[in-house]
Amino acid sequence: MKTSDAAYPAVFVSRRGAERIRAGHVWVYRSDVVGAEGVAPGALVVLQEHAESTPRRKTSDKNVGPTRALGTAFYSTASEIAVRMLSRGRVDDLDQLLRERIRSAIEYRERFVENSNAYRVLFSEGDLLPGVIVDRYNDVLSMQVLTQAMDTERLRELVLSELKEKLQPTSIVEKVDARVRRLEQLPEKTSGLLFGEKTSTEFEMSGVRFLYDALGGQKTGAFLDQRENYAAAEKYARGEALDVFCYQGGFALHLARSCKSVTGVDSSRPALEMAEQNAILNNRELDWIEANAFDLLRDYSDSRRQYDCIVLDPPAFAKSKRELPTALRGYKELNLRALKMLRAGGILVTCSCSYHVSAADLLETVQSAAQDSHKIVRIVENRGAAKDHPNVLGIPETAYLKCLIMVVS
Ligand code: SAH
Repeated sequence: MKTSDAAYPAVFVSRRGAERIRAGHVWVYRSDVVGAEGVAPGALVVLQEHAESTPRRKTSDKNVGPTRALGTAFYSTASEIAVRMLSRGRVDDLDQLLRERIRSAIEYRERFVENSNAYRVLFSEGDLLPGVIVDRYNDVLSMQVLTQAMDTERLRELVLSELKEKLQPTSIVEKVDARVRRLEQLPEKTSGLLFGEKTSTEFEMSGVRFLYDALGGQKTGAFLDQRENYAAAEKYARGEALDVFCYQGGFALHLARSCKSVTGVDSSRPALEMAEQNAILNNRELDWIEANAFDLLRDYSDSRRQYDCIVLDPPAFAKSKRELPTALRGYKELNLRALKMLRAGGILVTCSCSYHVSAADLLETVQSAAQDSHKIVRIVENRGAAKDHPNVLGIPETAYLKCLIMVVS
């Protein structure tokens, strides 16, 4: 579709919203939208700073006059994130722009993903493709649509056709997040096949094998953002290892290659059953414990159990800024227990996937736990998400995952 800039409706934003965009960010919140009359759900819009929300300038000010467009964006009539930037300039041919972005996202993975046939192919804002996430598990692709714009038939088809042509998957499944669809006021939908027939497969990360089942009773899917951290942890770990919050065994199965024994802990039985299936697939023997991590660590540290490597990869404790203090108490407790349980020279791998917990917050928390436990902690590696989850400067939300690898004495 070729359309001229003038054909797109305008959305006006407050000065605060415009300043965020000028500073490099790519979202405008609903509270900063001052005019979007008659704009359809998911429309492509031209973003303008609202003149009246800008303080009056002196007549001598050279900037007086109509404000320049801030760029071209997708609009949502429902979500708190009302505007998602697509381009700082004009968009004359949306289809061509999206196809180019998909191709360049795929080339980026060809360049930066090593040793794995499972990785994130498209990561929404991280690839300048707001509203769509696509993961590759070997020959099966999993797609998630997050916005009104990307849910339109035309854009869905465009993404699918480009993925089929460039990656030649056996099948593509759609993973539906019911909560996201409600927030975007999109009709209810269930997960299902979009193309092909195959819904399960096997994939590899750094030579470790995993099962993937998109739609079966036992749904799987990996935390692909931890892929490079698994390999890094494996490199330093030895002796007896404990993987706390192990899910389907991502860290544990890597550690099994460098450690004498590995125990994985999770509160979810189905996750542990899959972890055991994955262990069998790799001809490994690991121990799995179904337990609340907080209770187990308290019992183990009270009874002075010792390990040479402990991994802590809890779920996001802070889903909003308000929950930060409680989240930090949780991280502190976990790290304190783990530090007490490490033998001299032991390795602590501690992760946080809460965007609201900054890298500095996590470091400070671990430092405070180190002080309380009278341990000296050296940072061996200060890591983030794998490179297929691009971290874009100016979009702090793309730097959500922290992973510290430390040696403790
Ligand atoms: N390390 C994993 C990902 C962990 S996701 C990987 O790399 O694949 C977080 C996990 O924590 C989930 O599997 C969830 O079941 C588990 N979990 C959440 N709360 C828990 C608790 N209180 N105790 C133990 N496990 C918990």
